[in-house]
Amino acid sequence: MKIKSTLIAVATAITLAFSSCAAAKDLKIGMSIDDLRLERWQKDRDIFVKKAESLGAQVSVQSANGDAQAQISQIENMLNRGIDVLVIIPFNGEVLSNVIAEAKKEGVKVLAYDRLINNADIDFYISFDNEKVGELQAQSIVEKKPEGNYFLMGGSPVDNNAKLFRKGQMKVLQPLIDSGKIKVVGDQWVDSWLAEKALQIMENALTANKNNIDAVVASNDATAGGAIQALSAQGLSGKVAISGQDADLAAIKRIIDGTQTMTVYKPITTLADKAAEISVALGKNENVQSNSTLNNGLKDVPAYLLDPIAVTKDNIDETVIKDGFHKKEAVYQ
Ligand code: BGC
Repeated sequence: MKIKSTLIAVATAITLAFSSCAAAKDLKIGMSIDDLRLERWQKDRDIFVKKAESLGAQVSVQSANGDAQAQISQIENMLNRGIDVLVIIPFNGEVLSNVIAEAKKEGVKVLAYDRLINNADIDFYISFDNEKVGELQAQSIVEKKPEGNYFLMGGSPVDNNAKLFRKGQMKVLQPLIDSGKIKVVGDQWVDSWLAEKALQIMENALTANKNNIDAVVASNDATAGGAIQALSAQGLSGKVAISGQDADLAAIKRIIDGTQTMTVYKPITTLADKAAEISVALGKNENVQSNSTLNNGLKDVPAYLLDPIAVTKDNIDETVIKDGFHKKEAVYQ
């Protein structure tokens, strides 16, 4: 009898030891991405998943394709299936408080990836210095067109980053607006950051201003691409200064062709690798080092912010190509 209960105790101890070992090894991460239709997020996903898997985690990925409700349902599904860590690139950073509260109730750690989630009990935020992104965009455009009619093309109105980009842009533009050097002839935000929407907006802006536009402060490459199509149709591409962001391959090619003035390169590999490390650390209840703090309306969220880099024709080789973000053959083919 004694031997039997000892054997049971030993077997239980071994099983527990194995299962806690498995728990560390088979950490489950759910990654909920706003929109895999955009080139940039496919890169984020690939790098994040590879790194997280190399650290022993399993990752399941879902894309909401720009649909707030779909994102909430996908997150609920992930929670039902059982995960340890939730990594969210929110479509709408204002509507996830409830589903995040559910996650927290189940002991799931939450990392906001690239975009902040407001009024929610998130554990950590990782991104770039997004105000700086906006400053870099406006600075390059102002250098090219120090005076004239400016059109402001903001990103998705429900993306917290879009607001930060604008804040940074205005730091540079406001003094020039006040001194009368720059005149803002239009200001629109592009739903879901979609190129086709940016194209329409730009067509309408050109019509409304009788093509009298000197510069477009576009907040990313997808929207810049749409706007440049509209400019081309009027024979204006290459004449109008226009910014972007993400160092998309198509944008780098447009910069070489002279139809886009600049883009902002954000080393996604550093972001995604770091995010994977942070996710695994959160899942193991380890301490995570922050270098900043942002208030999301509910709490001061510890954050890790990386530096963005402005890219023009002059530094393509020593930035995106040097880092292997794009292959030289692909860029110059
Ligand atoms: C990101 C940009 C991206 C945009 C559209 C923003 O939140 O920071 O890099 O271009 O979303 O997906």
